[in-house]
Amino acid sequence: MFDAFTAPGRFHRGNLHTHSNRSDGALSPEEVCRHYAGAGYDFLCLSDHFLPQFQYPLTDTTPFRTDLFTTIIGAELHAPQTHLGDFWHILAVGLPSDFAAPAEGETGPELARRARAAGAFIGLAHPQWYGLSTEDGLSLDAAHAVEIYNYTCELLSARPDGTAMLDQLLQAGRWLGAYAADDAHFKAKDSLGGWVMVKAERNEPALLLEALKEGHYYSSQGPEIQDARIEDDHLVVSTSPVRSIVVGGHGARSAAEHGENLTKARLPLKAFENSWFRLTITDHAGKRAWSQPAKR
Ligand SMILES: [Zn+2]
Ligand SMILES: [Zn+2]
Repeated sequence: MFDAFTAPGRFHRGNLHTHSNRSDGALSPEEVCRHYAGAGYDFLCLSDHFLPQFQYPLTDTTPFRTDLFTTIIGAELHAPQTHLGDFWHILAVGLPSDFAAPAEGETGPELARRARAAGAFIGLAHPQWYGLSTEDGLSLDAAHAVEIYNYTCELLSARPDGTAMLDQLLQAGRWLGAYAADDAHFKAKDSLGGWVMVKAERNEPALLLEALKEGHYYSSQGPEIQDARIEDDHLVVSTSPVRSIVVGGHGARSAAEHGENLTKARLPLKAFENSWFRLTITDHAGKRAWSQPAKR
């Protein structure tokens, strides 16, 4: 829903998906944290690959927290197997430090359920990048959200997109959020390209995690969604200057406004009867921001 805009607190900028040299990234955890703190981020989840060749890291970033910057403990989880026979990539933000390695025979969907039960926010990472099917997406029933944009997948394979997966799952009656992330490894300029803006009363890991699970956030590559609320069967939106403000839902249903330096729109929701819908804005450089899905 658009509760992010009415919930108390302020927006905190964070990256949920990143790697350090505890797995296959180039920088140490301290350097990664310093990089994001220096770029003005409020928080980071270092999500190293939870694999035996890296001794199942749950990278401890707590020493790098400051008054202005915090971290959430997490990992990118892997287990067999997608319909193509590949290992799953599952983002788990907010894992306990004693989270156990996958058991013999544990599947991706089972591992995701165990991580969710342990308190994590579960993300269906980069579905387009490794060719997940809608059936794969449906089987990962512990997911809170789909990675709607992955900056590193954009750079490395021009397959950054999660919109098709998200919309197929919504269409199938699932209710998931949408988060953007860097998935930075720092072997290229692969950071600061996609992030979440999480509404919370304070910049504390537990509050940020709770807000993620509640859907109190939006995602961006640049533009800001400053407000979005339903009034008199319209979606009333305020943004930083953009060229388009679009709502899309079930099938081909959509409503849009286009223009130069748009900062406001009032979009009719009549077309979205009995349908989910979600907001996407695009600025003049082609950069986007995405809301969570909502219902009328
Ligand atoms: Zn991955
Ligand atoms: Zn990754």
